[in-house]
Amino acid sequence: MERIKINNLLESPQFGEQVTVKGWVRTKRGSKNVSFIALNDGSTIRTVQVVADAEKFSEDLLRRINTGAALSVTGEVVESKGSGQSSEIVAETIEVLGEADPDKYPIQPKKHSLEFLRENMHLRMRTNTFAAVMRIRHNLAFAIHKFFNDRGFYYLHSPILTASDAEGAGEMFQVTTFDLKNPPKTEEGSIDFSQDFFGQPVNLTVSGQLEGELGAMALGEVYTFGPTFRAENSNTSRHLAEFWMIEPEVAFNTLKENMDLAEDFLKYVIEYAMENCKHDLEFLQNRELDAEKNLPKEQKHEMPLLDRLKFVIENDFERITYTEAINILRNSKPYKKGKFEYDVEWGIDLQSEHERFLVEKKYKKPVIITDYPKDIKAFYMKLNDDEKTVAAMDVLFPGIGEIVGGSEREADLETLQKLMDEKGVPQEEMSWYLDTRRFGTAPHAGFGLGFERLILFVTGMTNIRDVIPFPRAPKQAGF
Ligand code: ATP
Ligand code: MN
Repeated sequence: MERIKINNLLESPQFGEQVTVKGWVRTKRGSKNVSFIALNDGSTIRTVQVVADAEKFSEDLLRRINTGAALSVTGEVVESKGSGQSSEIVAETIEVLGEADPDKYPIQPKKHSLEFLRENMHLRMRTNTFAAVMRIRHNLAFAIHKFFNDRGFYYLHSPILTASDAEGAGEMFQVTTFDLKNPPKTEEGSIDFSQDFFGQPVNLTVSGQLEGELGAMALGEVYTFGPTFRAENSNTSRHLAEFWMIEPEVAFNTLKENMDLAEDFLKYVIEYAMENCKHDLEFLQNRELDAEKNLPKEQKHEMPLLDRLKFVIENDFERITYTEAINILRNSKPYKKGKFEYDVEWGIDLQSEHERFLVEKKYKKPVIITDYPKDIKAFYMKLNDDEKTVAAMDVLFPGIGEIVGGSEREADLETLQKLMDEKGVPQEEMSWYLDTRRFGTAPHAGFGLGFERLILFVTGMTNIRDVIPFPRAPKQAGF
């Protein structure tokens, strides 16, 4: 008999029909006469209840059915008498496809800490929490492609191996085929990269933006969506060594339109998740409420997860300039009381404590900060008329901090060259990039969204390592 997925079965149960479901046992309970098996196949967070009459099945078979075992079950769909279940299956045949020894299988039907599950990363997607996060992750990825496709953007595949350092910030993983014990040397004694695989030093990309700009100047509206690598040794709950970034780049857009795009985009994908991941989000909301139950009020979220998502969709993001942000911070209570660890003055890079004050205390909603000092931003951002600030924009989210970083790009060749010189970005190596300004230059703008930071916000999870299947971070690269 053809298998039916549990999600389909629960969404539109055909009472009286014979069906086959396959999945893994979440729990088994019952009495001498009857066993109730909760079966999950990953298609939904919900389980279907399988009723196994002791008369129909041998003791030996029932003994082999434990949490984690894989089963194939055929039986009749009946309306459930139990609460919270619409339908269940009265088993006719049960095949144990694979056993899970309860004395050895680490995932048991009880609360496991996230730390424990990080240690058992290869099995953690078998828990409700991680399966929910991964389903939401998938839906967000799909929504991102849908948003851009519906608006006529093209998905541009920027390279993962690259000889360019997009940010000029370092923090890159070098890729080589050299034997590190014995690399070829030049006459002067330095490593001879002309003999390496690519004939030059090559790294894993830190951003697809510069290649995105090449695409935008031909195709108009493009976006990249790919893995990004940063060898920053920041062991935070917001940084991964390998993360996924979405980078739209739009010809003829200015900073204002760039902000509008980012806001529309974020609202769209969050709304998509709310519509398509209802059960998973409800589960995560309850999980969070439960985890925060015994915390003091100031450590609890002010709103439950779904209300927070709704709030972001329904309210305009606050838009302020960097200079305004500095003034607000200097006039704030925590500043005057000396509560900030880092000093606040015009020219500083905003620290996470400053961003959190603006987003969580002052405005209580997403904030877009624009027009940062040029000295703390990348070379490609458009120089404003004041010649001190650039047309940058960071989108800050409650509980997350920076989720999007972007800008209008400097479209004028001479100004760009001046900015590159100031920041020590070599022009010869970037000649290909400068050609966008040499030939048919035009205003354009774009931004980068860290995919995992978006997932943190949507799921309410608090550690970025818990929203990617296999996190890569300092001293962590298993599987
Ligand atoms: P941060 O100040 O938080 O390190 P950044 O200024 O280095 O961020 P950008 O270079 O502007 O970030 O990258 C664009 C987006 O990519 C950021 O807004 C963020 O969402 C995400 N991002 C940056 N670094 C990481 C990382 N190490 N892990 C996960 N996401 C990241
Ligand atoms: Mn960074």
